[in-house]
Amino acid sequence: MTGKAEQNVVIVGGGFAGFQVAKQFSKKLDAKRYNLILINPRSYAISLLQPLYANGNGETKVGVVTSIEARPGIPGGAVVLATGGTYIICKNEDDVLPFVHAWRQKFAKANHVVIVGGGAVGIELAGEVKDLYPVVMMLINATYGSSLRKGLEKRLHARGVQFMFNEYIDNIPEAGVVGISTQQWKAHFGRRLSGTYLLVAAAPTPDYVTSLGEDALNGHGFVKIKPTMQLLNHPSIFALGDIIDWTEQKQNAKLMWHIPVVVTNVVGFLNGITPTKKYTGAPEMILISNGRQGGMGYVGLFGGFTLGDWFAWLVKSRDFLASRFRKDLGY
Ligand SMILES: Cc1cc2nc3c(=O)[nH]c(=O)nc-3n(C[C@H](O)[C@H](O)[C@H](O)COP(=O)(O)OP(=O)(O)OC[C@H]3O[C@@H](n4cnc5c(N)ncnc54)[C@H](O)[C@@H]3O)c2cc1C
Repeated sequence: MTGKAEQNVVIVGGGFAGFQVAKQFSKKLDAKRYNLILINPRSYAISLLQPLYANGNGETKVGVVTSIEARPGIPGGAVVLATGGTYIICKNEDDVLPFVHAWRQKFAKANHVVIVGGGAVGIELAGEVKDLYPVVMMLINATYGSSLRKGLEKRLHARGVQFMFNEYIDNIPEAGVVGISTQQWKAHFGRRLSGTYLLVAAAPTPDYVTSLGEDALNGHGFVKIKPTMQLLNHPSIFALGDIIDWTEQKQNAKLMWHIPVVVTNVVGFLNGITPTKKYTGAPEMILISNGRQGGMGYVGLFGGFTLGDWFAWLVKSRDFLASRFRKDLGY
């Protein structure tokens, strides 16, 4: 990678974590000393209307990082890994719109929609599908405190969502396959669901990190970090967001705690200071929409408490936070 300055500061992934880190670095790093480079497979999440980089300090490159070469002993620069989870999003820019249109058609034509996974994403998707299509759906599993779990189940059930708990899909087929079999967990009593479409949300697959050594990733594909958010054996490489090996719910909201640690430590590291700022975790809280009309929230403070439909509508459901994210991205 070439640039005007001697050292490169590279951010891999321009999602919620990467673009915010890039924004802060552009204000804090001296352009004469550092080339700030953000790499992301798609260009359009980065605003064309409002510059992402302060004073033009920074550059976005469209591409997918396939490996990282570590050169121990050679000083200079830093890398921040922020490639998140894989979910259902396409890697290449050109594939995104055809993918979205194809899935809208599939939802429109489906008699039944089966969502595997009753976490926040599955529940929100169920609420949105019920807003748009009069179909019967089934959710498997649920998360968080019992008040939130029961409250969400009641709300979605009242709108015709069916749940199948304690079921398991052994072999998850390709997305879009019609008809799947479930195995009733432990009892080995399977069911066949016909005329269904399957949507799968996947864990992260940062294969490009394996070039940094066997101990860079844990068994589930998450990047192992120290509390300073540095990789175990690579002090110049930092990671944040959904890819990190930290026992917490993967959420955008966690970035409020991740970003200050990474920004402070990278800036210090570039100036020869050993990073000391530590990530010690963040409170668990969540706001789950139930279509556009409502939802529920959970705050894991003071023993944990829930918030109801009006609060969820006010803060999130009325436009699914689209206006806030458009503003953050400068659209
Ligand atoms: C449907 C849905 C709803 C959600 N709702 C909420 C919510 O309401 N509240 C909340 O707090 N959180 C929510 N989340 C979680 C939130 O989106 C994630 O926690 C957040 O996006 C994590 O940010 P990130 O930057 O780590 O990863 P991402 O935002 O996933 O960004 C990763 C970026 O890296 C890029 N990338 C991947 N691999 C490479 C590579 N090899 N080279 C270059 N670039 C690469 C990707 O294309 C992407 O742009 C939701 C998630 C989903 C899927």
